[in-house]
Amino acid sequence: MDQTTIRRSNLSLVLRHVSERGQSSRSAVAVATGLNKTTITSLVNELQARGLLKEIGPRHAGSVGRPSLVLTLDGSGVGALGMEVNVDYIAAFATDLAGRVLIDRRIGFDAMESDPGRSLDKLAGVICRTVADLERLGVALAGITVAVPGLIEADTCTVVVAPNLGWRGVPVADRLVSAGVSPHVPITIDNDANLAALAECSSGVAMGMSDMVYLTGEVGVGCGIISGGRPLRGADGFAGEVGHVVVDPAGEPCGCGRAGCWETKVGLAALVRMATPGHSPGAYRRFVRDPEERLAEIEQRRAEGDPLVDTAVAEVGLWLGRGAALLVNLFNPRLIVLGGYFARLADRLIPVAQKELDRLGVAIAAERCDFAASPLGFGAAARGAAHVVIERVLSDPTSIAIR
Ligand SMILES: [Zn+2]
Repeated sequence: MDQTTIRRSNLSLVLRHVSERGQSSRSAVAVATGLNKTTITSLVNELQARGLLKEIGPRHAGSVGRPSLVLTLDGSGVGALGMEVNVDYIAAFATDLAGRVLIDRRIGFDAMESDPGRSLDKLAGVICRTVADLERLGVALAGITVAVPGLIEADTCTVVVAPNLGWRGVPVADRLVSAGVSPHVPITIDNDANLAALAECSSGVAMGMSDMVYLTGEVGVGCGIISGGRPLRGADGFAGEVGHVVVDPAGEPCGCGRAGCWETKVGLAALVRMATPGHSPGAYRRFVRDPEERLAEIEQRRAEGDPLVDTAVAEVGLWLGRGAALLVNLFNPRLIVLGGYFARLADRLIPVAQKELDRLGVAIAAERCDFAASPLGFGAAARGAAHVVIERVLSDPTSIAIR
């Protein structure tokens, strides 16, 4: 490694140490990193100059000994913006380096009724307004990550295909810049379920876990897999497309052109179809117009004790357990986190799904894998997207200019 690389790596080591502990003394940093005091002084000075660390105190370490200053994250002027574009909304979530929430907003938007160009213009508009609001708060953006429900080619920042948005081969970063987003802020994109999984591991129900699966129940079914502490992406970044694993070849036709995909058993459209009186098979996707409204209707009928709704939810729970058994046998997660609409019906879905999982999974693995409802709800992907930007700063503090 050359000097610049070593320096960058050491800056990251110190910043990450303080970030993980909340605060730390210079001597504790030296012990944890194995770096000498002179080096620590130089690194801390640079991190302070970049507005990433500050020193507070003095703090008395017990009754004897001299008062010592304490290092803590500064970063109040460094912002991370996570965006999510989905079938019926655009979400924006911004934090500073220390994780303080600056903006958390969700705007209703019908992507299914818009062509990709109009959707991207709308997304760019929301980003520009949010960036302007952050500037008014005195925050400079370190980066933007956009969550998209589809297959992503991260290197080229391109959405290969997002069926439920009607996007195919969309170079998102380029299009956002031509629609007015500043070219000086780095933009990355990722799959929404991958990002939601990261959010659950960093600040949700799977905090600190290194092996978990996140399932998002929406019009489609997304899946984010964290294995050994990292998102599992596969050779082309397409890993985790379990929504289109065929579980019932004689089943309903799916939007992808196959029949009996898992999505046709557990997606929101499947639930709505089964809960519709006198429902018949076929064209299940027509049940997905206005998903939020459909879900609200189902919750209302469930509260009124409608037996058809209860049967439909139990049927989804059963198929959730069957699909989960496949995931447990493949990836051996400790926890399966249910997001999206699954979380809203978790009290009924989880007992049914857990029983089926325990019946079908490999015995030892099934015993050790539980379901849990996501506490982050529909905001998980945008939160995870902001987390990715923070992680980049922690990995390379030199990405933030000296003030
Ligand atoms: Zn399918």
